[in-house]
Amino acid sequence: MKIHEYQAKELLRPYGLPIPPGEVASTPDEAAAIAARLEGQVVVKAQVLVGGRGKAGGVKLADTPAEAREKAAAILGMDIKGNRVEQVLVTQAADIAREIYLGLVLDRTTRRVTLMASSEGGVDIEEVAATAPEKIIKVGANPLLGLQDFQMRQAAFALDLPGGLLRPFGAIARGLYQAFMDYDCSLAEINPLIVNTDGALQAIDAKINLDDNALYRHADLVELRDPQEETAAEREAREHGLSYVQLDGTIGCCVNGAGLAMATMDLVQAAGGQPANFLDIGGGAQSDRVIAALRIILADERVRAVLFNIFGGITRCDEVARGIVAALPSLPRPVPLTVRLVGVNEAEGHQILRAEGITAVTSMAEAARAVVEAAR
Ligand code: GDP
Ligand code: MN
Repeated sequence: MKIHEYQAKELLRPYGLPIPPGEVASTPDEAAAIAARLEGQVVVKAQVLVGGRGKAGGVKLADTPAEAREKAAAILGMDIKGNRVEQVLVTQAADIAREIYLGLVLDRTTRRVTLMASSEGGVDIEEVAATAPEKIIKVGANPLLGLQDFQMRQAAFALDLPGGLLRPFGAIARGLYQAFMDYDCSLAEINPLIVNTDGALQAIDAKINLDDNALYRHADLVELRDPQEETAAEREAREHGLSYVQLDGTIGCCVNGAGLAMATMDLVQAAGGQPANFLDIGGGAQSDRVIAALRIILADERVRAVLFNIFGGITRCDEVARGIVAALPSLPRPVPLTVRLVGVNEAEGHQILRAEGITAVTSMAEAARAVVEAAR
């Protein structure tokens, strides 16, 4: 789950990160009022869940409250990579001497939370990563000891920070690491971490992604979810406990089990078709989930045929068959259904479908060929 910059900053502030004061606004007048409270120059920043806001014109300096109102009016409602700006963060402006990149990710290869840092921070870090990866230092945290002081010094030396900034840098890296662990992040990033013209470090941007699988441990963070992060279909799927990823083909796939779902997508492709989605209805799927799955799949107008591929185990074939039958009257539009059904209570499942005029098959390859034919 992604959260906004202003939310990430509020999570990080208690960890001692030097974050300039600021507040979020949803109208130009609110932005002006915040600017008046902060005094001096401010930055007005679009709050959207995508990067590259600066380059898209979503980050603007303002010298007076009136100017903050103007900049907020220009940024609010702006479209940044398909995301409408609903809120802006108005925050005290910093005078930048240097922009550094500082990030923490889980490196799956080394199986360590890894600190990454680069002296080439700022808006072009993606390009640095692509063209000059040697300019990004990586330090893996020990799973038991965490980030150690010598590692922080290593990073600071590689960044060529002046001696006086070694301790502050260490404190920032340690705070970021602690927050990463406490909140079960998959990413925590400060880009840029700046050295200001007074020679002090300041975190002027913050990005945090939370590990969805650990969200059950953070009830308070679940509320931070912005519906903009997901499409309507993805949200409905999540609420019904379905794993759903929309793709751009014409064949809707409704499968139990992630492995079988992937195999099904391969088979559809091999048979000359294009899957419209990945969808795992999960083990023990009940009728209501099947109904929701069909509704979600058919909401995609490109879908011309649907393939059910069910291997009955914990999920019983008769239960899925009943779900399909129950969904038929409320289908948003008529669409050919192909069903492959094998496993527990297979015969009963086939019979339930046959009574509704649907012939289920037992071979995956046959089902894939049939659905591709139906979609033509
Ligand atoms: P992003 O483009 O979405 O990563 O947004 P950032 O918050 O990182 O801002 C983009 C760029 O705007 C930064 O790299 C800075 O160059 C500039 N910027 C952001 N905040 C300030 C500020 O307080 N003062 C100045 N002078 N520039 C800023
Ligand atoms: Mn940034």
